[in-house]
Amino acid sequence: MFKGILITKDETGYNSQLQEIDSSVLPEGEVTVRVEWSTLNYKDSLAITGKSPVVRCFPMIPGIDFAGTVIESSSPLWKVGDAVVHNGWGVGETHCGGLAQLARVKGEWLVPLAPEFSARQAMAIGTAGYTAMLCVLALEKHGIQPGTGEILVTGANGGVGSIAILLLSGLGYTVVAATGRVDQAEHLKVLGASEIIDRSQLSAPAKPIGKERWAGVIDTVGSHTLANACATTRYRGAVAACGLAGGMDFPSSVAPFILRGITLYGIDSVMAPPRVRQEAWARLASDLDPARLEAITQEIGMAEVCSVATDLLEGKVRGRVVVDVNR
Ligand code: NDP
Repeated sequence: MFKGILITKDETGYNSQLQEIDSSVLPEGEVTVRVEWSTLNYKDSLAITGKSPVVRCFPMIPGIDFAGTVIESSSPLWKVGDAVVHNGWGVGETHCGGLAQLARVKGEWLVPLAPEFSARQAMAIGTAGYTAMLCVLALEKHGIQPGTGEILVTGANGGVGSIAILLLSGLGYTVVAATGRVDQAEHLKVLGASEIIDRSQLSAPAKPIGKERWAGVIDTVGSHTLANACATTRYRGAVAACGLAGGMDFPSSVAPFILRGITLYGIDSVMAPPRVRQEAWARLASDLDPARLEAITQEIGMAEVCSVATDLLEGKVRGRVVVDVNR
């Protein structure tokens, strides 16, 4: 038996609860990990609250991320005692996840814990930070450099947004943060944003094309925000789209693409191949000062997970949440 959050769905409804779980619930997999830290991402909150059909089979342990130590392995990639990190791969959706004391996954799904980070710091980064780095890499590969111009980050107080600001400002980019919580402007400036704009400036239906401003954009919001970001991106600029916090639609036109030659990069962290993950984690290790993560991280125990998941979807959480699965 081990402690974890278990999601069930039956005639009595959808239920997420902290409980003792029988190890027979753990799925097939080559590597069993004693989880030390997990985290709460946007998708975890959708799964725990049942607000969106994220969970595809029941019973399910949520948690797309975990960090811990290998305790059993039939994979040639890992041995007992290895420190590992897991992000995505449908874990917490179709395969039991990390909000529990034990997890069992395929060997190729894991990446080594970088020596620069503790397991807790790796979870303060989590899928949100790894996705922020995938976005930064997309802009860099497009040829955008710190001197190219302003970079817009939307959903700035969220997990992806906060780490995107830390990363970009650390690399020397000029970052403009769009947020609904302008009262948090000082905090965003400490992270490295040079200007804060109210997200309402981007949330009305977009014109096909607007005044050119952004050399690049990291968008976590989608919908009208993404359309406005595209319409105001400079000639041959790029937009990295990774989120849907404001909606899944994309009410735009082809104008920014055919008149300004902008590029829209789709960012997926879930099924990204191992070499892409390794590149992102290597760059996180070299570019992100772990000490700076503390300012955007709050720690909770397992008993708080379900209520904080609701807060996160209501936009009440700032930055990242790490979960001590043994508390
Ligand atoms: P968070 O909940 O931590 O942050 C989302 C932020 O978006 C909020 O803090 C808020 O920022 C802003 N926001 C929320 N609702 C709205 C709204 N209605 N309109 C405009 N802005 C809004 O989530 P994460 O940072 O973890 O994830 C952000 C998005 O990225 C999610 O949609 C998530 O599913 C997606 N994602 C995608 C990944 C991928 O692989 N493509 C991986 C990880 C995340 P503020 O208060 O500053 O306005």
